Amino acid sequence: MIEQQIIFPHDQPAYWIVFQRDQVVVLNQQTQVNVSTRRELLLDDAHFSDVLKVAEVDNLPCLVVDLGHESLPSEQHQTVSLRSVMMNSDARLFEALARAWQATLFLRTHRFCGQCGSRMQRIDWELATQCSRCSHRCYPRISPCVIVAIRKDKQILLAQGTRHTNGMYSTLAGFVESGETLEQAVHREVFEEVGIRVTNLRYFSSQPWPFPHSLMVGFLADYAGGEITPEPKEIADAKWFDADKLPLIPPTFSIAGHLIQHTLALINEQ
Ligand SMILES: [Zn+2]
Repeated sequence: MIEQQIIFPHDQPAYWIVFQRDQVVVLNQQTQVNVSTRRELLLDDAHFSDVLKVAEVDNLPCLVVDLGHESLPSEQHQTVSLRSVMMNSDARLFEALARAWQATLFLRTHRFCGQCGSRMQRIDWELATQCSRCSHRCYPRISPCVIVAIRKDKQILLAQGTRHTNGMYSTLAGFVESGETLEQAVHREVFEEVGIRVTNLRYFSSQPWPFPHSLMVGFLADYAGGEITPEPKEIADAKWFDADKLPLIPPTFSIAGHLIQHTLALINEQ
């Protein structure tokens, strides 16, 4: 439903999402995206020549303006990280923000053709770019990534990544490789990262994760065999945890947090 180049009146309310570099632009120290009018954004008219509509929340459009690498327009404007704005948003605005950033990143990185190097043009009926010379067409990249919560009797497997220095333990996750099914990706990733086998694999739910263009596909699984053997480049530590002795885990706005809570509920039902 992404629409492009819409004209929007000055006084009509909307959720305006403004990006500068990889940050969200806010006014007067706000920490989230609020309903406002185009006039209240205090931006030049030129910034509205290329507005994207990415969603509707509460019957209000979610509109995107990209300042790119321009400096901030005034001292009243500040930037905050996309991640923190998403954490301060409800589920629908969370999705709109994810979509907004992925669309913005796509348009920034597809200005020239990957096949012949000519300038790409935007297509006006869908979010895509097309080469003016060789007609090569590009769509926003989506990278599927499996994420899995593994249960063994009354315990859950949680791991700490080598890149996560905040002490948090989470579910295992990894990108799907070319030519691989989602299920094969789960079995391969689990075995590569911690050296165990899983069974009873069930789809749980999915979540777009715009850092930068993942689609997290969540699964539940049960332990089938093997000893935990962390892959040292990716996993600093991995253990079976009792439901009442959990380490620091991800918040429930993330699919990892949902998967962990659901698995704990399954353990408690036993
Ligand atoms: Zn081309």
